Amino acid sequence: MPAGGAGGQAETDPLGAYRGKRNFERTAEPSGAPVEPSSSPAEPASGGDAPRFVVQKHAARRLHYDVRFEADGVLISWAVPKGPSYDPAVKRLAVHVEDHPLDYATFEGTIPSREYGAGTVMVWDEGTYRNMTEKNGKPVGVAVAVAAGHLSVWLEGTKLRGGWSLTRTSPAGAKEAWIMVKRNDEHADRTRDIITEAPNSATTGRDLEQVNSDQSSREWNAGQATWRPPMLAQPLRMPLDGRILDQPGWLYERKLDGLRCLAVRNGAQVELWSRNHLPFTARFPEVVTTIAALPADNFTIDGELVAFDGERTSFALLQRRDPTTRVEYHAFDLLRLLGRDTTGLPLSDRLRLLAQALAGAGDNLRAVVTIDTGSQTEPDPRALLDAACQAGWEGLIAKRADSTYKSGRSPDWRKLKCTASQELVVGGWTEPSGSRVGLGALLVGFYDEDGLLQYAGRVGTGFDDKELADLRATLAALAATDAPFDDPAARQVKGVHWVRPEMVVAVAFSEWTPDGRLRHPRFEGVRTDKEASDVRREIS
Ligand code: MN
Repeated sequence: MPAGGAGGQAETDPLGAYRGKRNFERTAEPSGAPVEPSSSPAEPASGGDAPRFVVQKHAARRLHYDVRFEADGVLISWAVPKGPSYDPAVKRLAVHVEDHPLDYATFEGTIPSREYGAGTVMVWDEGTYRNMTEKNGKPVGVAVAVAAGHLSVWLEGTKLRGGWSLTRTSPAGAKEAWIMVKRNDEHADRTRDIITEAPNSATTGRDLEQVNSDQSSREWNAGQATWRPPMLAQPLRMPLDGRILDQPGWLYERKLDGLRCLAVRNGAQVELWSRNHLPFTARFPEVVTTIAALPADNFTIDGELVAFDGERTSFALLQRRDPTTRVEYHAFDLLRLLGRDTTGLPLSDRLRLLAQALAGAGDNLRAVVTIDTGSQTEPDPRALLDAACQAGWEGLIAKRADSTYKSGRSPDWRKLKCTASQELVVGGWTEPSGSRVGLGALLVGFYDEDGLLQYAGRVGTGFDDKELADLRATLAALAATDAPFDDPAARQVKGVHWVRPEMVVAVAFSEWTPDGRLRHPRFEGVRTDKEASDVRREIS
């Protein structure tokens, strides 16, 4: 028996990181044939000429595209949130991730809830590639190129053709940030949006929902209610988008300012999950108790955990919860009931079933308030929003009554806010002055279309002393030498401690200034349930 055992093997096995993250009794992903590390030269396992590449569309916590190249017996991999672009002017963020086994290249299916990468995987593109990387006119091997931070490839796929380059933009280490760019060649096309033009599987022609539903009878989730990535509302830009709501068929419900939460029940087992699949079960036992007492079973409910400050919901109050804070769960959708998937039903039907499922529930569990537009066939959305704001609500969510439930951001759900607030990414902080503890202000920003962090200003109010101390401790662990902001104005701010842009905070403010800064910003809390890379400017 070789010395070292499993622990020693994990260090030398090129797929150790891949296997370490997965439980192959629960996921249908391949475990990968054992790989002899660095024993044989790079050789394509296909036995053919050119090595393979694959791009897998992956509807995980958020949709992304996994770009993988066969080299040295594994698939060297990047996660590209927005997918590849044919426009050479567009830089796409590509996060370098762990090597995957070669047989992953054909994997199409659903990774079950609670497992690593939970969500549906589709083979979006596949084909062969040529490594074009050179240094001083000499070819450079793929592994050496990746270690050095620059890889140039020629793709012969069904959707992707021509030259692309991948270049590292962060220090070497875990979760490296790279940029993927189309090279200027005969295949480059500034007007072509391949992501929306060709959304389906390159091998089976299925869309994500078909891949997912074809898998739903798999043994590992047969009969079980599960978490899935929730449906999200797009911000509605008034008055620009107002006409969208002038069409009939919209339902309006109260917008709540709390924590998105999916409640999953299988028999006596109740679980609460955040929108990005963090467990909430232990944090909100009073809600678990209420859900366990419902007469219905085998369901997934979608809703919002909220704490009321008077008539308004307050995210800050929910975050700072003390034993006297009452937390309620306001349900607004139903994904499964009594063992049946309800996501394909129109919203109006799902809401009727939800109301039945909630009948007799404890009073900390209720259906979200919807606006009865009564006999108005074409209610005026501006008047509805004004009335909601007058009543002290945070805003409205408009939903198409006939829409099905789809994971991810959808134009079928639109959010209209009364006051400006949104999530922003922390890129730095300043020292406190006077009697202040912890820190003075947070420097915050958002990602633009090109994946660059744009500076939005400083947030210096809204904290209590405990939050200031906690923030300083957390941010100290994220210290970075360089400013993460693309904006030269931010880089010039003196005395700033820069951090890796990983912390997301909720910020209320009065408006955006014409030069893109927050006016009167106020800290509302840290959002661990949202991804920094998802943070965009929301026009409010
Ligand atoms: Mn992935």
